[in-house]
Amino acid sequence: MNTFTAVKEKPVYEHDCDECWYLGSYEKWQDGKTVLYDLYAHWDEGQKTVIARYGSDGPDYLSGLPFASHEEVLRVAVERAIQYGVIPETVGWPRSGHVLVL
Ligand SMILES: [Zn+2]
Repeated sequence: MNTFTAVKEKPVYEHDCDECWYLGSYEKWQDGKTVLYDLYAHWDEGQKTVIARYGSDGPDYLSGLPFASHEEVLRVAVERAIQYGVIPETVGWPRSGHVLVL
């Protein structure tokens, strides 16, 4: 499956962090409908994570590197973040197996 079919230039939803890198949006078919996610990586000394936002309300997001191995949208965020050079390749899912290496 091509995971880069739904990249949009601007986020669809509001996001409350200025430090995040926007990685494009991603459409996922779930529960009988298409859900659009805005993908982000937040990568600095304080926090290292990927985020998939599906609404403009504060809590409307998924996040967490440990979940990227089984959550499609977070996995796509990791892959894009590595491709764009936002996060180091050593994080690389799934090259390091089922465990993410920081
Ligand atoms: Zn952030």
